[in-house]
Amino acid sequence: MPISGYDEQRLYEAVSNLYIDMQLRLLTLLKKAIQQGMRYPERQIEIAAQLDRELRRIMGELGVFTPHAVYEVVQKAYEMGIEAAEADVERVRSPNSLKNALNRAEQIPYSISFTQIHTLAVEQLAGELISTLTATHDIMLNALGAKYREIVTRSAMGVITGVDNRRQGAQRLLNDLADQGITSFIDRSGRSWDMASYTEMATRSAVARAQIKGHIDRLNHNEHGLVKVSAHPDPSPLCKPWQGKVFSISGNHPKYRPLQVAINNGLLHPNCRHSVSAYFEGEPIEQVDVREGAYKERQKQRYIERQIRKWKQREAVALTVEECKRARAKVREWQAIMRTFIKETDRRRDYGREQIGQAR
Ligand SMILES: [Zn+2]
Repeated sequence: MPISGYDEQRLYEAVSNLYIDMQLRLLTLLKKAIQQGMRYPERQIEIAAQLDRELRRIMGELGVFTPHAVYEVVQKAYEMGIEAAEADVERVRSPNSLKNALNRAEQIPYSISFTQIHTLAVEQLAGELISTLTATHDIMLNALGAKYREIVTRSAMGVITGVDNRRQGAQRLLNDLADQGITSFIDRSGRSWDMASYTEMATRSAVARAQIKGHIDRLNHNEHGLVKVSAHPDPSPLCKPWQGKVFSISGNHPKYRPLQVAINNGLLHPNCRHSVSAYFEGEPIEQVDVREGAYKERQKQRYIERQIRKWKQREAVALTVEECKRARAKVREWQAIMRTFIKETDRRRDYGREQIGQAR
């Protein structure tokens, strides 16, 4: 039984929202420092020092929250995988095999050995995600400090003269920062991500991996060797060849290919939404019709969501009332585009993905 996308989303958002909130808080602080610096140019050094302290304080808080949140989320995801595996087995158990299973459960002290597997897996997966996420903290701190110095130097050097022009120059740099995220990150495949997408991708992938690991570990522990990959009408091209197919967990089955082959060739790629469930030989496999164009539609929705978020961020860093109004008008424009798109495609609107966090 695959885990619903909704539950999964709520789970990874518990971590990725920390980063989305943090980005907005950092940008808002930067904006305030720039505004103050324009009002009191003689206090520039003091303002910069204050900004630096506050940035460090926020990153310090994040450094404390992240490991706790990650551990909790990964643990929960792994347990959801276990529960799903138990439901899978329950689904097909005949009274006779139930009795067998109960007998076996009594004979094998699996609560002890499985608890060990469980703890080790959660620790490893959570540890990996914590290092990926906390590695971004210093990079962001340095990037923001450098940006602030650039803005100050540029206006002080007289490259941009006059208060209005100075403000416009600072606004341009702030806008770039809001649009591109504080800094970009490169993943293992060399693809570049903005901070919010990068942390979301890393968390989402870890949550998916934990669920699947819990599921597979549990099936394995129950000596069940076959799994089926879930199927969606809008799979990514990487997963399309694998969905709805059966694989062997150990890779030793005479008839079915190893699951690792699918994983090595794209299945469970970053942001993949596929899951696995127990497969029992002879069980019929429901066919899901891949709707041509559905994947493109999903991409389009993600694109519109990014535009809404982009203009909300622009609103948050607006130095003037006019700039603020202009950004708000753009938010409304893209929200209208989203409404039309949803009506035309009959897709589900995801308001959570249109938010940029809550600056405090
Ligand atoms: Zn996938």
